[in-house]
Amino acid sequence: MFIEIVDAFRCPRAHELMWLVASADRLEDRDILAGELGCPVCGARYPIVDGIADFRGAGAPPPPAAQILPTDHGARGLRAAALLGLTDGGGLVVLAGEWADAAHDVAALAERVHVLAVDPLGDVSSGAGVSIVRAPDVLPLRPESVRALAVDAAHATERFLASSVAALRPSGRLLLPVASPLPDGVVERARDAHDRLGEKQDLTTLELAPRPLR
Ligand SMILES: [Zn+2]
Repeated sequence: MFIEIVDAFRCPRAHELMWLVASADRLEDRDILAGELGCPVCGARYPIVDGIADFRGAGAPPPPAAQILPTDHGARGLRAAALLGLTDGGGLVVLAGEWADAAHDVAALAERVHVLAVDPLGDVSSGAGVSIVRAPDVLPLRPESVRALAVDAAHATERFLASSVAALRPSGRLLLPVASPLPDGVVERARDAHDRLGEKQDLTTLELAPRPLR
């Protein structure tokens, strides 16, 4: 967990926004390998173990695990970097589920971005431009803190997508499975047989609070 992105996190519980407080027991190259993130509002504590911050204690169940299939990380990373437009500039990029396994490929292609890998299926190590979290069914990031975001089928739930859109900057890009409906606040820019590429509209910031099921 790269110490400079701690300010981008929020408690995944539905309450007022407040910065989390990080404490580090083991720090290496500004990467917290062991420690804790604490919420000053509700008192929740999220452990950091082996560099991975675990937000799943927030109560909501995590998305069901996706089927693990062998994939070509390099090709997937290239695809994510191209579709998300990461060829220049910095910022925080979120890769969830299957996409997260290509975190280091994306970080190598887009040197100035920091990649947050959410629930990688395989072994992904923290450091070298990559941080890792385990998330409940919401993305624990503050509004408009993310430049671009890719979500796999297991994370394309209504709640996870709504929190993802809230975390995106205006005009930020969202890559999701073509079978998933576009979340509110996002317009479609492109699609192929596998993926749909959307862009956050510049008008609104959606709330993290759960919406009724339709
Ligand atoms: Zn809290």
